[in-house]
Amino acid sequence: MRAAIVAKLMYAVGKNPEVASQRDWFIATTLAVRDRIVDQWMASTRATYESKRKRVYYLSLEFLIGRLLVDALMETGLTEPVRQALDDLGVDLDQLRKIEPDAALGNGGLGRLAACFMESMATLQIAAHGYGIRYDHGLFRQVIKDGWQREYPENWLTFGNPWEFERPEVDYSVGFGGTVETVEVSEEITRHYWRPEETVDAIAFDTPVPGWRARHVNTLRLWSARAPDALRLDAFNQGDHVGALAARVRLEAISKVLYPSDATPAGLELRLRQEYFFVSASMQDIIRRHKQHHGELELLPEKVAIQLNDTHPAIAIAELMRVLIDLEDFGWDEAWEITKAVFSYTNHTLLPEALESWPVPLMERLLPRHMQIIYMINARHLDLVRSKGEHDGGVLSELSLIDESHGRRVRMGNLAFIGSHKINGVSALHSDLVQRTLFYQLNRFYPGRIVNKTNGITFRRWLFEANPGLTELLVDCCGSRVMDDPAALIDFEKYAGDAGVVDRFRAIRRAKKAELAGLIRRRLDVSVSPDALFDVQIKRIHEYKRQLLNILEIVALYDAIRANPGGNWVPRVKIFAGKAAASYHQAKLIIKLANDVARLVNRDPVVRRLLKVVFLPNYNVSLAEAIIPAADLSEQISTAGMEASGTGNMKLALNGALTIGTLDGANVEIKEHVGDDNIFIFGLTTEQVEERRRKGIDMSDVIAASPLLEEVLDAVGAGVYSPGEPGRFGDLVNSVRHHDYFMVAADFDAYYAAQRAVDARWQDTAAWWRSAIINTAHMGFFSSDRAIAEYATDIWGLPAPRMG
Ligand SMILES: *Cc1c(COP(=O)(O)O)cnc(C)c1O
Repeated sequence: MRAAIVAKLMYAVGKNPEVASQRDWFIATTLAVRDRIVDQWMASTRATYESKRKRVYYLSLEFLIGRLLVDALMETGLTEPVRQALDDLGVDLDQLRKIEPDAALGNGGLGRLAACFMESMATLQIAAHGYGIRYDHGLFRQVIKDGWQREYPENWLTFGNPWEFERPEVDYSVGFGGTVETVEVSEEITRHYWRPEETVDAIAFDTPVPGWRARHVNTLRLWSARAPDALRLDAFNQGDHVGALAARVRLEAISKVLYPSDATPAGLELRLRQEYFFVSASMQDIIRRHKQHHGELELLPEKVAIQLNDTHPAIAIAELMRVLIDLEDFGWDEAWEITKAVFSYTNHTLLPEALESWPVPLMERLLPRHMQIIYMINARHLDLVRSKGEHDGGVLSELSLIDESHGRRVRMGNLAFIGSHKINGVSALHSDLVQRTLFYQLNRFYPGRIVNKTNGITFRRWLFEANPGLTELLVDCCGSRVMDDPAALIDFEKYAGDAGVVDRFRAIRRAKKAELAGLIRRRLDVSVSPDALFDVQIKRIHEYKRQLLNILEIVALYDAIRANPGGNWVPRVKIFAGKAAASYHQAKLIIKLANDVARLVNRDPVVRRLLKVVFLPNYNVSLAEAIIPAADLSEQISTAGMEASGTGNMKLALNGALTIGTLDGANVEIKEHVGDDNIFIFGLTTEQVEERRRKGIDMSDVIAASPLLEEVLDAVGAGVYSPGEPGRFGDLVNSVRHHDYFMVAADFDAYYAAQRAVDARWQDTAAWWRSAIINTAHMGFFSSDRAIAEYATDIWGLPAPRMG
């Protein structure tokens, strides 16, 4: 290993050990480790080719990967050899780790799920490819200035990316705009020729994705946009250098930047271009590979499964139809059967404002042939619905692919549904709601397509890498089997009352909390005690996730402590992290409120030892890895019915945090696994939320009945936390009082009470740690290996993978 690293340093980086910087060592180490992975990668690729087995393609506009060095070392079992080799060279692996920028090609849960799934597909030795976009700039870097969020560009590629392989020869042309020529070949046959107005090249960049123990290595193929050469030559020959360059820049903008919106679609032309760009390139690649290996396109359903991660790649359904009909001479019916058999779609949200739809005029201009095909799919779909006796105009317009109510728009969710053989929700509750609400009508006419696949997380990153101490304890208690089989975690439960194990568990947590306290001191200059309860809410900032509820509870607690500083309070550190979409005014105001409350509370000598509030900037995968093993309490407090699943909830519980949460998303299943006594559930249920919304969302009645909440809202509304600008939070307070769609007021008292139950449990030390151990022990179900095994058999038509 040492020789390999030094050789990379000299011959790939071009540096002497004497003058090499930490970054040079990082690159050399990465390249040396990558070589080992590549050996397995070649073997995997060859084995898949020879077995001619079915392949899975995971299409996602986001992959929130994070750093890869520690991950690669863990997967390959090279951590200790590399650490030793670097030691010998006078280099510290822990320092090198921090040099690597996070690959932040995603916004939040959806992108992180794609990353966990890539890892689990490799672990289960499924032949899979991820397809996405190689954004030059990932999710913005968040800086907090005077308590406000500021967005700065993120430049993960500045110093190169040693993990990827550029494939200049894998270059597909993707068309946009233009016209469709229709030719009547005969009575029955009409041909369509799409003549795009412009094209852009998609260049592949491949990153190998090793699974556990690197038994199998898959590929993440990300596309980068390049203007076609011809463009440059023509214009340059005519002397219009500037015009030619401007045209290049416009085309190459497609892969420049990730849209920084979460749970709301970007809705802009460039976004639709991104979607079609990566879909077209991926479909060309899939079809080329299929033809090369299997020949006939009739065999597609047997050899290819394509998973659509949300509707962002749903245009792939129209694209495959176009390829089969226009380019490969299939008849409509056969093409449609193939398409449905190949595609499946994961729904991630029920929020009406988050459902993707594109204006028909934009589609017609950018993708004229696809628009025709969508009309044709729709016509046949509505014929089928009518043939089954449905003639109600309201029902038909709900079922249609075209939404006529807000201008004419293409509903991507309906397209994804109709063109897929399986549609899945991401938790039991969410899948149930998908069936009962969002796709109620579609489900009537296409029954049996909706299934549930509760999300999961990869334990390699979120347990083994993030928390090696706990991993070691688990191996000691459950045996080394726990490293390969998440179900083996259950054996840890036996130790919930074992004093020796509890002590080790506590010491491991204490060490992680001390590390996090150091990070908090360095980044925020706030000192916090590792002996306090670390209460953590880390996720995108969104009204439905209700950081506001948490902040208002802090204000209430702060007032209560001040009123009785000698009371029997549990010392707490309230930790927040998360980004708000740059254009999301309310969410950014919530960040400001958190910081304003933090400033006042942290300065107050009366509560000094008892309460601290910190907002850690720039939440990303690496920060999550630092916070999660140090968390005692996991805040999962979304308005019931609004969080599709959550995966942060799983990461935290796996590491032994107790959850305070609503009956929403996967919290419901976490509760079933850990048992009612080991989780703090509060608040309205989905049905009660619906009922209250029907009744009206002016909360004057609720607030009048809650002196506690009244006082909190008065204080925030009067500018106690924003003395220089008393009206700053008027909007927030006003919406809680009179337009409380997210039920902050309605759930406040129940939340406050649940927090006091948390205090009581914390003060019963033995009970707390018993619950913590039970949480870890019961998280086996939430492994993404389990989730992927279910996708494999129930959706992709693969044989059951061998688990463990
Ligand atoms: C897990 C994760 C998420 C998703 O968190 P939720 O609490 O499920 O919303 C978002 N961002 C990052 C960086 C994550 O690691």
